[in-house]
Amino acid sequence: MKSIAKRTWFALILACILLFGVLTFAIRYFLYADRWVSFTGSPHVYSHGRLDTGKITDRSGEVLYSADSKQLYSDSTKIRKATLHLLGDKAGNIPPRLLRTYASRLFGYDKLNGTAAMETGGGELKLTVSAQAQAVALQAMNGRKGVVGVYNYRTGEVLCALSCPTFDPLDPPNVEKENSDGRWDGVYVYRLFHTSYTPGSIFKLTTLAAALDKDPELANETFVCEGSRIVNGEKITCPKAHGEQSLQEALAHSCNCAFAEITLRTGKSALTAQTEAIRLAESIEIDGIKTVRGRFDLSDAEDNGLAWAGIGQYTVMVNPCQYMIWMGAIGGGGIAAEPYLVESARCGGKQTYAAEEKLTPRMVSRETAAELRDLMRYNVREMYGSVDIPGVEVCAKSGTAEVGTDANTATFAGFIDSEKYPLAFIVVVEEGGAGSSTCAPIARDVLQACINVLKGEG
Ligand SMILES: [Zn+2]
Repeated sequence: MKSIAKRTWFALILACILLFGVLTFAIRYFLYADRWVSFTGSPHVYSHGRLDTGKITDRSGEVLYSADSKQLYSDSTKIRKATLHLLGDKAGNIPPRLLRTYASRLFGYDKLNGTAAMETGGGELKLTVSAQAQAVALQAMNGRKGVVGVYNYRTGEVLCALSCPTFDPLDPPNVEKENSDGRWDGVYVYRLFHTSYTPGSIFKLTTLAAALDKDPELANETFVCEGSRIVNGEKITCPKAHGEQSLQEALAHSCNCAFAEITLRTGKSALTAQTEAIRLAESIEIDGIKTVRGRFDLSDAEDNGLAWAGIGQYTVMVNPCQYMIWMGAIGGGGIAAEPYLVESARCGGKQTYAAEEKLTPRMVSRETAAELRDLMRYNVREMYGSVDIPGVEVCAKSGTAEVGTDANTATFAGFIDSEKYPLAFIVVVEEGGAGSSTCAPIARDVLQACINVLKGEG
């Protein structure tokens, strides 16, 4: 009797374990089956790591990628190069991130029929980017490394998201063999989202936001620059003595001496709070792409470190996409739309996904945003005539970040103040020299291309 009771218990425990297993599977199947089936190793959907079905188009419907076509990518070499980082390469060195994120919406997987819809040819993923704007950006970069980002800060649509260097996915380079001159350094990295840079003087806008928030009277003060200034034993210099300047002149001259003074008066905690408001050290997710965190840490900084941080040096690092959103927030009166790259997904004639507009948290007060807007507008009128596009008001700031080598990182960031063309932008050129002369012409070409795209859409 004893041994029968033992066996009964044993059988009961086994049955419980089995039941638990079946239940767990059922729940997980219900929750995650679409993810399992769209996993890139899944043989139902992929061959050799590439999606086996469906196509990707730009905002105008131009096909960028089609699983039905033998060559997969666009017919245009320029567009293949300009959209590489959005689509991924054949070898999988650059992953097809957007495809992965939306795979389950594309091939019509559902829990009853599985991947049956794939037999009908899969679906269509429509991006917000413009292939034409991407191509113009690629041409304007002219072989240099860096990023060009443009997005609509009212809706969130990203129109241009270029990363350089890039290559033709139908004719990939042998990166290891052909890189003695460093030309392919970081070619697989999607720099707009996955790199952070020393910002240089475009960071003065962040400093100003903190300073004006703390003391709105700052806008009426004057600043005297004698060409250099000693802070805690360290010399902070300008290219020349700027003399007595208003605040808008100090920003237009990008006067380091004036901004050292403004930074010291603003202080560590207000400056740090402003970087938190613009999410500088946070990672955000855009259609499954996570941005890298920037860096702003003054915990060990003395006054000289603080002063350098306020002019975008010290150990400050920013992700270009994050900074572009911040520019959008200034244009949007303190709040911007969160950016997105995928407009919609369709499968078997049905819409399976549509982007929703979302807003960022408030990054700066409405009053300070308006003040920054005026200062940035003055900047373009006085200093960057080359970026001024007829018919719209471009507001911007340039930067030339020293990065420890002879070659500086050139940066340029801003927005168009317009109801019709509310575009925020960032341009970074590595080893690019001065931000204004290198990046402003690139920004002008790409913004003009984006305006033409929006005009064409009515
Ligand atoms: Zn100066």
